[in-house]
Amino acid sequence: MTERYEVIVVGGGIVGATAACILAEADIKTTLINETQPQKTWPNDTVDLRVSALTKASQNILEKIGVWPVMVEHGVGPYYQMRVWDANGNGELHFDCADTEFDQLGHIVENRITVASLWDKLERLSGANLICPATVNELQKIKQGWRVQLDDGSEYEANLVIAADGRDSRLREILRIETKGWAYQQDGLVATVTTEKHHQNTAWQRFLTEGPLAFLPLANGQCSIVWTLSTETSEKYQQMNDDEFLAVLEQASAGILGKMIDVGPRAKFPLRFQFAQRYIDENFVLIGDAAHAMHPLAGQGANAGLLDAAAIAELIIQAKKVNRPIASQRVLRNFERWRKGDNLAMMASMDAINKIYKVSVSPFVMLRSEGMNWINNNALIKQFFNRYAMGLREDLPSLAYENKPVD
Ligand SMILES: Cc1cc2nc3c(=O)[nH]c(=O)nc-3n(C[C@H](O)[C@H](O)[C@H](O)COP(=O)(O)OP(=O)(O)OC[C@H]3O[C@@H](n4cnc5c(N)ncnc54)[C@H](O)[C@@H]3O)c2cc1C
Repeated sequence: MTERYEVIVVGGGIVGATAACILAEADIKTTLINETQPQKTWPNDTVDLRVSALTKASQNILEKIGVWPVMVEHGVGPYYQMRVWDANGNGELHFDCADTEFDQLGHIVENRITVASLWDKLERLSGANLICPATVNELQKIKQGWRVQLDDGSEYEANLVIAADGRDSRLREILRIETKGWAYQQDGLVATVTTEKHHQNTAWQRFLTEGPLAFLPLANGQCSIVWTLSTETSEKYQQMNDDEFLAVLEQASAGILGKMIDVGPRAKFPLRFQFAQRYIDENFVLIGDAAHAMHPLAGQGANAGLLDAAAIAELIIQAKKVNRPIASQRVLRNFERWRKGDNLAMMASMDAINKIYKVSVSPFVMLRSEGMNWINNNALIKQFFNRYAMGLREDLPSLAYENKPVD
């Protein structure tokens, strides 16, 4: 007989594993299926190439499901300040946690730490079943939900399928949910660098004509860089030897962290603006990058996905509590209404910032610098931007709020 679950989550990255954790902890019978075995151990002196700046709202979610303390044990890099400046003008923005009620603006965390900590928790939750490595190949609609078929031919059924299978979502394709968007013709080039000066637990971002260069402060004193470059330049920089690369990086950084001393392996990720036209189908929902992929310049993709995960889980748990079907149109439509607008607003702001900084015509640059400096000198407006970047917006899922009890 085919095994049946209340929810099947496909994709065990940051977003899917979080959704599965929240649901399983609330005794919703959940299966998480992931294509690859998540990395559980790694040599001490290495840093994951993929890191994320996690907001306060994301930290709250991960804290409330008991995963954050494990992440802290592995090492998370708090940042207290953020400095953003324009390479072509004199515009500057400076955010400081001293202007907020919090001890830090956010944390830089290696993605493998977040994923391993979530999986560690899932393995200890009796309500969670983990199937991995396994790829979902097909979905078949059945009367009460979906039958999910894996690459080894095995089948599972669930009332609700949550697709958290990333930007190139196979499930979104199977359901013929269309996406809109475009390729940026830019790559995000990432690497871990050792700098002469300490990062001072500050996230540094310099806007250059091709795109922003960010130095994200890691717990071990190194920086993770995310450098947005045209596809041609990123290819050229990928081909350079380490010394050549360190030289161009030092020049692009304007020496803010002194000499660039050492660089580890480099990787580049083609950037896209992409959103699913709908997040839901019958007994089916898209979350995380499967629903929306955005420019990484303000580090919000995983944060937005964590809010999706917390929101859909909250609606399911609420429905179950009052004995309503967990995959009803009412639940799914509420989710879509709740999260789609917030995600689109975030994506549109990232896109606008990317476009604004690509212009290098002097009157525009002057105006842009004026605008940045005006925001920097206006405490109220700055506070608004700061809170927005920290993920502290209106209408968040309960888990994302500071100390707000879960219903
Ligand atoms: C250069 C760069 C820098 C970034 N920096 C930040 C940042 O600072 N802060 C931030 O918030 N975000 C950042 N992001 C965005 C962030 O990395 C993503 O938004 C986030 O990782 C998406 O997570 P996800 O779980 O939705 O998808 P993914 O991480 O793509 O996970 C999808 C999972 O699904 C599995 N899968 C796929 N297909 C199947 C299938 N058919 N069957 C079973 N399993 C399947 C995959 O194996 C994978 O484990 C950055 C992105 C880039 C490119």
